[in-house]
Amino acid sequence: MEQYWSGNAVNQNKGMVENLQRYGIIQSRKVAEVMETIDRGLFVPNGTPPYVDSPIPIGYNATISAPHMHATCLQLLEENLQPGMHALDVGSGTGYLTACFAMMVGPQGRAIGVEHIPELVSSSTENIQKSAAASLLKDGSLSVHSGDGRQGWPEFAPYDAIHVGAAAKEIPQPLIDQLKPGGRMVIPVGVLFQDLQVVDKNSDGSVSIRTETSVRYVPLTSKEAQLQG
Ligand code: SAH
Repeated sequence: MEQYWSGNAVNQNKGMVENLQRYGIIQSRKVAEVMETIDRGLFVPNGTPPYVDSPIPIGYNATISAPHMHATCLQLLEENLQPGMHALDVGSGTGYLTACFAMMVGPQGRAIGVEHIPELVSSSTENIQKSAAASLLKDGSLSVHSGDGRQGWPEFAPYDAIHVGAAAKEIPQPLIDQLKPGGRMVIPVGVLFQDLQVVDKNSDGSVSIRTETSVRYVPLTSKEAQLQG
């Protein structure tokens, strides 16, 4: 919802990361590193300004989230994106965050994107192929699937980290079920007014939920409803 910078002040991925550090959104070396390594410029439509702090339409009534939202989610999930861990990105869109997750969990881990617009699954795969995460896609430790992300992706569950890139009316139960004890999910919840919620699964299987901040995402919905706008 906020915008930390705009205009032509930043024309490089590195400058974008420096701004995110300056504004305190990126707080760790690891998140800075992954956002330096995965060039956001490879994930936005041609002719759009990749490094400005703003969401950008990507077709199909979807947007790539603003850099400060990507950074916020990476910070919140950092502990759950260690090498060898399993991460699920629901509503993976351009594939940007799925690629970041894959770099963090590494070749021994698993980063799974689920997106219900098949055209976005194809274009995100092409984006990732141009990026530093290409080899992970080839290995199979990173994969993007076409499907309704409200059902999660049981094949590689349970997950240490789940990110949902679209706003749910309520948290889908299958996503809670697919979270590992000790795992964390970051999910925008709400219709007009949305909260970015942080859902931690405790060792006894119960969940603790807190609100991080107010946000504005496209809805987590059916493909038909989304295409109607
Ligand atoms: N993190 C992505 C966000 C894309 S916008 C990025 O920054 O590129 C949210 C995405 O969620 C859209 O691509 C939309 O098509 C997708 N989406 C919405 N509802 C969905 C559902 N039920 N299952 C899977 N994907 C969904």
